[in-house]
Amino acid sequence: MVGFGREPELMEIPEPVPGPGEVVIKVGGAGACHSDLHILYELDASAVWQLPMTLGHETAGWVHSLGPGVEGLGEGDPVAVYGAWGCGLCRRCAVGIENYCERPSLVGGGGLGLDGGMADYLLVPHQRHLVPLPEGLDPAVAAPLTDAGLTPYHAIRRSWPKLTPDATCVLIGVGGLGHVGVQITRATTAAQVIAVDVKPEALELARKVGAHHAVLSNDTAAEAVRELTGGRGADVVIDFVGATATMTLARAVARTMADVTIVGIGGGEIPLGFFSQPYEVSIATTYWGSRPELSELLALAAGGQVSSERSLYSLDDAARAYRDLHDGVVTGRAVVVP
Ligand SMILES: [Zn+2]
Ligand SMILES: [Zn+2]
Repeated sequence: MVGFGREPELMEIPEPVPGPGEVVIKVGGAGACHSDLHILYELDASAVWQLPMTLGHETAGWVHSLGPGVEGLGEGDPVAVYGAWGCGLCRRCAVGIENYCERPSLVGGGGLGLDGGMADYLLVPHQRHLVPLPEGLDPAVAAPLTDAGLTPYHAIRRSWPKLTPDATCVLIGVGGLGHVGVQITRATTAAQVIAVDVKPEALELARKVGAHHAVLSNDTAAEAVRELTGGRGADVVIDFVGATATMTLARAVARTMADVTIVGIGGGEIPLGFFSQPYEVSIATTYWGSRPELSELLALAAGGQVSSERSLYSLDDAARAYRDLHDGVVTGRAVVVP
């Protein structure tokens, strides 16, 4: 990333050298995320971020070199990088919830203020950010799961108690995160899964990866979901878009005591009042997931129950990956493999 509001460029930079406690990873795959487009074209962090910065916050690879004092890892070990780098000491960080670090001024991450994974090598500032890959899981397969998988995993996992075998989970938006969300819900619960999207191809993908029903998002979508749930509505609704229209739909299909979780950063807003939703509906936003959850998700992926659809790009072609993402023509997740 060479400037705010500018296309990324391929640049030659020195190979990182790990200092005390640090680890350098040889990158095996780095996912391109929609939030990178937000970082490139909408965010203005020029006051806090120094450019140029290497993009990429979904990375997996192999341990390349260890700084002084790093123990328990060996050169060539396959690892996924837990991408939210918090302070490591606050109450949230202490239990691996670094995505909600309570000292946000210290929070960064590779590709989020510090150099990220769209490179041959990635400097990781502490070994606690590394999660060993289970046997048989390729880094290029694991990379997109560190965000596009972990984010839906956390959103679904927190609502597990409500996803009983007679419950319904509605997932709105079957893109990079949503299609993984469908698989996670199927693999970890016995609930009925209904996917909603505006694109027929996305509905096809939803069915292919295990959704029981796929509903086109239009004026009658809420009615269609009600019908599929015997008139009751959904126990859990996860909105991977976060636009006003999808948030309105999410609330419209919620049953009493439902969880409505907004994951997408679509910039939408809906008014909140006592009678604006059924009784005891909880509305929450979530951001990313915890390190223990990443370990659980990688175990699911190694067992073949969850995988992200991928379109592979070479490092030379990384800028095109972002262009394709911007134009909405990427199937699944764009993953750069150096
Ligand atoms: Zn992301
Ligand atoms: Zn912290």
